[in-house]
Amino acid sequence: MKHDYTKYFKAAVDDVRNEGRYRVFQDIRRIRGDFPKAIWYKDDYSEKEITVWCSNDYLGMGQNECVIEAVKSAVDAAGTGSGGTRNIAGTTHYHVQLEKELADLHAKDKALVFTSGYVANEATLGVMSKILPGLIIFSDEMNHASMISGIQRARCEKQIFKHNDLVDLESKLKAAPADAPKLIAFESVYSMDADIAPIKEICDLADKYGALTYIDEVHAVGMYGKRGGGVCEARGLSDRIDIIQGTLAKAFGMIGGYIAAGEVITDAVRSMASGFIFTTSIPPSTAAGALRSVRILKISNDIRVQHQERANALKQRFREAGFPFIDGDTHIVPLMVGDPVKCKAISDQLIEAFGIYVQPINYPTVPRGTERLRFTPSPFHTDAMMDDLMSALHSIWAEFELKRLDVA
Ligand SMILES: *Cc1c(COP(=O)(O)O)cnc(C)c1O
Repeated sequence: MKHDYTKYFKAAVDDVRNEGRYRVFQDIRRIRGDFPKAIWYKDDYSEKEITVWCSNDYLGMGQNECVIEAVKSAVDAAGTGSGGTRNIAGTTHYHVQLEKELADLHAKDKALVFTSGYVANEATLGVMSKILPGLIIFSDEMNHASMISGIQRARCEKQIFKHNDLVDLESKLKAAPADAPKLIAFESVYSMDADIAPIKEICDLADKYGALTYIDEVHAVGMYGKRGGGVCEARGLSDRIDIIQGTLAKAFGMIGGYIAAGEVITDAVRSMASGFIFTTSIPPSTAAGALRSVRILKISNDIRVQHQERANALKQRFREAGFPFIDGDTHIVPLMVGDPVKCKAISDQLIEAFGIYVQPINYPTVPRGTERLRFTPSPFHTDAMMDDLMSALHSIWAEFELKRLDVA
């Protein structure tokens, strides 16, 4: 019997579409040296200059002249691809230098670079139960999809604790057999709700119950801490975390991911993790660009100060206007809409009518009913850009008859 396979694929997409969360990718081209400006290709016939408000290139390092220069000169010196996996010809001098720099950034013995932050989480968490028989992983319920995927791959016992909830975490740790190996997996900055984990308290619980600690600092590396070593550096907690995971793709403006940890842990992951072993390493030029970016941000605390100032400026404007945003402690400013169809319509209107690009964030990235527009102001978002954004939002909020909070 021949199935009508197409029907199933179509039905799957129709479900997504009927819920109003069918994803449309905006076709843009970023403009070198003019962050956060880009060209939007609306269709084959029209293009328009826009301001990007939702980039994870949080500090504009993907447009930094020195980073661009490092990438170009590495291409000139070493060509394009790396030519293999790390084991087979894919460990270039650029990779070696980058890993040294990342280990130093996090004050760890060693770092290990993966092809993405996603792969770093999936591969590292995925191999933990092979290394630690009988492992129980304690995972924050808001952890990123890549950590969840890694934990599923590990096929060991898992305990999901309530988001940032120390009481729930402790009760789960207490209930587990005292002699079982344990690992607590969590993030520092949660990028959808703009909040930060109680890292010190989680480490205290890890000590009390003899657990390893694994933190995803993807939304913090480059942006927090005196040298950009993340929230753990900012809070003086790097030495209390066993494995720090980060990305080269957000504040560092390139692509790739990594872990930083003690020598023995890193060596075991390097030797065992499938997602590290069986894939071609990042291009030398990418490693060179990331290396330059990490080095620049290590000595550029002023850009981190400006970043926070800009984020606070936007929050202050939202506060004064009574827009329902999540007033967190981070650089991320989520504006709540609470409806997938409206969220998409607002985003469309913003780009079409005002040249403002902010992507709607819908299920499954966030829970249903909490759809939002996630703003990521950077040091390069000027007051004038904020004026334009506010006047656009005022008119849209009225048009869509959305609620505002009472302004005290
Ligand atoms: C983006 C993200 C990742 C994945 O990093 P990439 O380098 O983009 O693959 C991992 N964890 C969190 C929390 C993220 O937001």
